[in-house]
Amino acid sequence: MSPTIDNPFAVPVFDLMHRPGETRERDLDVVVPEDFGSELIGVRKGAEMRINTRLESLHDGVLVSAEIDSVATGECGRCLIDIELPVEVDIQELFAYSFDEAFDYTVVDDHIDLEPLIRDAVVLSLPFQPVCQEDCLGLCPQCGVRLLDNPGHEHEEPIDPRWAALAGLEGLAEAETPDIDGTASSSATEEKR
Ligand SMILES: [Zn+2]
Ligand SMILES: [Zn+2]
Repeated sequence: MSPTIDNPFAVPVFDLMHRPGETRERDLDVVVPEDFGSELIGVRKGAEMRINTRLESLHDGVLVSAEIDSVATGECGRCLIDIELPVEVDIQELFAYSFDEAFDYTVVDDHIDLEPLIRDAVVLSLPFQPVCQEDCLGLCPQCGVRLLDNPGHEHEEPIDPRWAALAGLEGLAEAETPDIDGTASSSATEEKR
């Protein structure tokens, strides 16, 4: 039942408890145990996270202030390339010594568990619609190339959707080719005669 087992976000506070005015600084280097975020963008399982905490003993509990540094990865919602975003968020919360309706968090087994706080702060900091850059032009709606990689990209004429369909059905297109060629060559021959 201990919250500290296998929890890299648990911070010991035994040396601060019930000693108002005492402060400590504790830094954690965490390997994130599971994804924080969405499928599109998130701090992924296995990512490194730096957590610099400042702990202050108060009468009711331990006040924690922390700076979180990590990197989120995902893909641009417009052009689909892989992207990385720095994640820098701050949290501050009081962990009470005893369960109390006034406080959401409590000290358990001489530790405070920062995981829910950090998860919420990280997820809130992530963009809802991540992009590789603000002016990303996305993909060409006709051929799918990434427009930022192809300046001046344009098409002579719109691709006929019927040809696009044929290109995806090579077997069918090959089966029809002899008839078309046959008709065309025979009519050409007749004209020459
Ligand atoms: Zn993009
Ligand atoms: Zn195109």
